[in-house]
Amino acid sequence: MTTIKLHNTRTRTKEDFVPIDPDNVRMYVCGPTVYDRAHLGNARPVVVFDVLYRLLRHVYGAEHVTYVRNFTDVDDKINATALARKQAGAEGTLEQLVQERSDETIGWYLHDMGALGTLEPNEMPRATQYIAQMIAMIEDLIAKGHAYAAEGHVLFAVDSWKESYGKLSGRSVDDMIAGARVEVAPYKKNPMDFVLWKPSTDELPGWDSPWGRGRPGWHIECSAMSYELLGESFDIHGGGNDLMFPHHENEIAQSKCAHPHGEFARVWMHNEMLQVEGKKMSKSLGNFFTVHDLLEQGVPGEVIRFVFLQTHYRKPMDWTEEKAREAEAELRRWRSFAGNIDAMGNPDPRVVAALADDLNTHGAITVLRELYKNGDAHVFRASAELLGLLTFEIGQWFDNQVEPAHDELIEYALAMRAEAKKQKDFQTADQMRDILSSAGVIVKDTPEGSKWEYGSGFDPSKLDALK
Ligand code: AMP
Ligand code: ZN
Repeated sequence: MTTIKLHNTRTRTKEDFVPIDPDNVRMYVCGPTVYDRAHLGNARPVVVFDVLYRLLRHVYGAEHVTYVRNFTDVDDKINATALARKQAGAEGTLEQLVQERSDETIGWYLHDMGALGTLEPNEMPRATQYIAQMIAMIEDLIAKGHAYAAEGHVLFAVDSWKESYGKLSGRSVDDMIAGARVEVAPYKKNPMDFVLWKPSTDELPGWDSPWGRGRPGWHIECSAMSYELLGESFDIHGGGNDLMFPHHENEIAQSKCAHPHGEFARVWMHNEMLQVEGKKMSKSLGNFFTVHDLLEQGVPGEVIRFVFLQTHYRKPMDWTEEKAREAEAELRRWRSFAGNIDAMGNPDPRVVAALADDLNTHGAITVLRELYKNGDAHVFRASAELLGLLTFEIGQWFDNQVEPAHDELIEYALAMRAEAKKQKDFQTADQMRDILSSAGVIVKDTPEGSKWEYGSGFDPSKLDALK
């Protein structure tokens, strides 16, 4: 079996990946807060962990991998949109309008991420569905002396776990206090203490709890949902490196204190940030855009994915228009070569090896380029699919292009051959058959008509005779 190596943020080394249970490899990735459309940066972890998910499925078997990615649907910005709609005369209670906004945003998210050829995780829990489990976990933390209630809030007491807090990001509590932008509040025993539960105003969504009507803090959501769906120890936890502190530190503190016998997550993986034309993406610089914006402009989702995969996930990646243009041109060539054959067989072992080396997607693409030049179209296709490229679901964009794709030329030759046979023009019929066979296209005549597929030695240049 292939040994996968992954860089573990926790140990700062690339380690052999040894699953807790190879029959159920478990991965949790922090998902979006669903207040608006996903920007291009949000798509990076989705694509990165989609490649990992595909690799794990390839190595351990599709039914032996469980991938969970949550939706954070408790958020001030969701509430603000709902409130604005209500004030503008929208029908329904505020609670319904909040739910409507989350539903709408989740729908967009799944559509946009689907356009990038990402597989849906096995579970996509919404925070609002797990409030009872969050309350139970908070009560347990209080009982164990790791949290305290104060003025309608419940806070995690960092001092109760001081020696371990900050290990993931490599900071001590004292360093963090010195440099942190922590919210100072009179009810906090230590300024680093973070919120597990906070009060809600009457008009905003809230849930009854032992500490009054309120809502959970963001960090406890992931601790509760990962525990419910994956257990107290699971294999991989992922997200962008902007989440390492405080979000992931706080998840670890909560989960390890609530379940001291569990390991929580063994391997922590973080993708670097996306930039645009060399600059941080931000609204004020005017280079802020969503995945939807790009799709609307006619940039195929597969092109976005391909650009992403050319940079290793632990390096900052730069989105540029030039990269998108080059990626599109290359994908067109690849699709002409192998876009319409089935991906029978196994991917090239070198592609698997590159991905198994801490997701070296750039290395995998280098092998694909070589296969495109010299290789078998079936192996090429199967290898591309392991990266989520040239898949059936992502492939619709190419067929609509003006340039005749190879399959259209082949269909044309077959139609000419059928017509020539009907007319008893055997010379033309044979000529068509010869062109197809010299190009490596396999034609089978069946009672339903002629069927064809690309043979292993497919040579598209031989089809030029048909143009
Ligand atoms: P958020 O909805 O802001 O919590 O972000 C959802 C996911 O997108 C998290 O895993 C973030 O780390 C990630 N993310 C946000 N901005 C970027 C960016 N510019 N580049 C890469 N990942 C990002
Ligand atoms: Zn999280």
